[in-house]
Amino acid sequence: MSSSGARKKLPPGAVILKPGSTEQTETGSWRSLKPVIDEKKCTGCGICWLYCPDMAISEGKPPKIDYKYCKGCGICANECPVKAIIMVPEEEK
Ligand code: SF4
Ligand code: SF4
Repeated sequence: MSSSGARKKLPPGAVILKPGSTEQTETGSWRSLKPVIDEKKCTGCGICWLYCPDMAISEGKPPKIDYKYCKGCGICANECPVKAIIMVPEEEK
C-alpha cells in the first residue's frame, strides 16, 4: 500500500459461472494427463477422494474416477500413500 493510503482503482472483473453451476463445467476437457489406478496396490484409504479438488473420485476400493470432471492435475497421484495412481498421457486412454 502506498504511504498516502490511497487504494488503486481496479478495472471491473468478470464472473463467468453462475453459483451452483460446477456440474455444467466438464473440466475433463482440460486434461493432458490422466490418472490411472493400479487396483492391486490400492488399499482403499480414501486419501485421493479427500484431496481431489474436483470431487472427481468416489470412495471405494478401488475408487472410481469420473473422467468427465477429472482435470488431470495429478494431486491424487501425488498424495496416494502407496503410489497406486500414475498419470499417463491422455492419448493412452
Ligand atoms: S489414495 Fe491410493 S491407496 Fe488410497 S484409495 Fe486412493 S488410489 Fe487407493
Ligand atoms: S488428477 Fe486431479 S482432478 Fe483428476 S482425479 Fe486426480 S486429483 Fe482429481
